[in-house]
Amino acid sequence: MILIKTISQLREKLAPYRNKPSSIGFVPTMGALHAGHISLINSCKSADTICVCSIFVNPTQFNNAQDFEKYPITIEKDIDMLEASGCDILFLPSVAEMYPPGDVKKNYDLGYLETILEGKYRPGHFQGVCQIVDKLLAAVLPDNLYMGQKDYQQCMVVQKMIDLEEYATVLNIGPTIRENDGLAMSSRNLRLNETERQQALTISKALIFLKEKLRPGQTDSLRQQSEKILTDAGYKVDYVAVADAATLRPVENWDGKQLLVALVAAFLNEVRLIDNMVING
Ligand code: AMP
Repeated sequence: MILIKTISQLREKLAPYRNKPSSIGFVPTMGALHAGHISLINSCKSADTICVCSIFVNPTQFNNAQDFEKYPITIEKDIDMLEASGCDILFLPSVAEMYPPGDVKKNYDLGYLETILEGKYRPGHFQGVCQIVDKLLAAVLPDNLYMGQKDYQQCMVVQKMIDLEEYATVLNIGPTIRENDGLAMSSRNLRLNETERQQALTISKALIFLKEKLRPGQTDSLRQQSEKILTDAGYKVDYVAVADAATLRPVENWDGKQLLVALVAAFLNEVRLIDNMVING
C-alpha cells in the first residue's frame, strides 16, 4: 500500500487507471477503522482494479466541537488493517490540503433530506459531509464509491450530491457490520466505558423489537414503545423513526408492503450512537 498526502500526487498515481477496463474504487473514512470499514474495502477489492481508502477527520461535518476533539484517532492500527486488507492507496490529507486558505464553501440543495433526522439534530452536518465527499470525489474520480448502510441518511445525501454535481460515480451501499451482541460497529464505540458498552446493545434491541413487532396499520404506538426501551436503558433519545426506505418520509399508517426503515439516534452520556434496520412486509 502506498500512502499519499496530496491531491496532485493522488491524481498522478491514478492516471494509468482512468480508462476501461480498469476501474477505480474508493472508500472514504474518518479512521479508527473496524470490520465495517474493512468490509467496504473488501467489496472494493473484489470489483475494482485499484482500491483507494481515505482517512480524514473532516472538521466541517462536526456540529459539536467536543465530538470533533474527542473523535478517536488510531492511525498506526488503521495502516496495519489497511495493509492486511490489500488496500492499494491510503490518501491521508491534511486539513490545509482539503480546505486551502480562501476555499469557498459550496452550498448543496439537499431539500427535505436535510430537514429531518440527522439533518434536524445535527444542523450543518450534511453540508459538511457533501463538502468533503465532493472534494474527495473530485480528487479520486472513482468509478465506484463504497459507503455503509450504518449511515443510511448519509448514503441518500451523498447520492443526491453525486446527482447534483453530475459525477459519473456509482454509489455501492454495504450492509451494517455488527459485533456479536448486535451493536453496530462504529468508531465512536471506542469512547464507551464498560457499563456504557453493555447498555449500547439496547439500540439494536430496540430496532429488532420494531422489526419483529411491526404489523400493517398504525406504527406510532410501537415506535413509542421502542423509544421507551431506550429511555429505560438510560439513553437520551434524539429520535426513533419509522420511515419509507426510499424517501425517509415518516410512515404512520403502514400498508404492510411499503419497504420501511427504522432509524435511531440516541446519547449514552456523552456518546451519540446511530443505527437503523430495513423492514420489509
Ligand atoms: P466513518 O469512518 O464512520 O465516517 O465511516 C466510513 C464509512 O464506513 C461510511 O460509509 C460508513 O457508513 C461506513 N461504516 C461505518 N460503520 C460501519 C458498519 N458498522 N458497517 C458497515 N459500514 C460502516
